Amino acid sequence: MNWIRFFRLLLTGATLFPLVLLAWKLDPYGEFAFRQMGSSNVWIMHGPAMEPNRQNKGFMNNPAFIEGKRGLIVIDPGGNAFVGAKVLEEIEKVSKKPIAAILNTHKHGDHWFANIALAQKYPNAPIYAHPNMIREVKAGEAEKWYGILERLTGNLQGTRPFRYPAHELRDGQVLEIDGERFRIFHPKRAHTDTDLLILHENSDTLFLGDNVMKNRLGGFDASSSILGNIELLEGIMKGKEHRLYVPGHGPSGAREETVGPFLRYLKLLADEAKKAYEADEEYYSVKKEAIAKMKEFQNWDAFDHQMGKHLGKVYQEIEERDMQ
Ligand SMILES: [Zn+2]
Repeated sequence: MNWIRFFRLLLTGATLFPLVLLAWKLDPYGEFAFRQMGSSNVWIMHGPAMEPNRQNKGFMNNPAFIEGKRGLIVIDPGGNAFVGAKVLEEIEKVSKKPIAAILNTHKHGDHWFANIALAQKYPNAPIYAHPNMIREVKAGEAEKWYGILERLTGNLQGTRPFRYPAHELRDGQVLEIDGERFRIFHPKRAHTDTDLLILHENSDTLFLGDNVMKNRLGGFDASSSILGNIELLEGIMKGKEHRLYVPGHGPSGAREETVGPFLRYLKLLADEAKKAYEADEEYYSVKKEAIAKMKEFQNWDAFDHQMGKHLGKVYQEIEERDMQ
């Protein structure tokens, strides 16, 4: 036995082994762990960009945390108690600091149902959201999402009673926690009427919530506005450029690569719907033509069953605006 080789092997084994143990293994999607965004104090665990299902166990959003001096501020911990427990486990592999606060970007359960897992260990950590979200989740939105996610994932055990946000954040507000500054934006109606966009000023990171998705499409519910979403994203593209953009689903990155594709998708929808409306045709008369222009998005998750609905929805919005 060559002793130098033996020790080298031992060392390699010792350094590799904990790394293998480090990540959360979620078959067949691979391993998930919080990654530091550059040299900033922002950490994100990007979930698989797809609809909630039994295999992903309802994990498909982008839980994030900001490491302050004394504690952690978590944004959108995920879609059920199980995911929340995994998220907490993964957070603790990176930092042992306590959770100081939780921020929820909007009312959809795939982003905030995991509050409960974090609150079990940190019952005094305040949970923040827009007042519309707090009102709507209590008025039935939480139960509606519980039904949707339970049907898709069968993995909602322990998620009720819901851990609702109790602290309000409004448009223009600046929240300061542990030296970390968060500037809050609320578009009246975009992905929903409950959205918060959160700019973490220390790292110049913009959390977009579901106003941007990449590699997957999701629903636009009755409270949403596709035209409002387009206006919001056009404003973001024209405004000051930030260091990092974090979508609700899909990879984070620079502005153009992150916001650009979803904005192009929404604008294509609106342009085609407008064409149909002005020609006095129904929206589905332009569906084929629209799809042909959407090569870039055709392999996004849920494209096949969401795109037609989105086209119909934006057509209806164009009609409503015209009637006003
Ligand atoms: Zn959403």
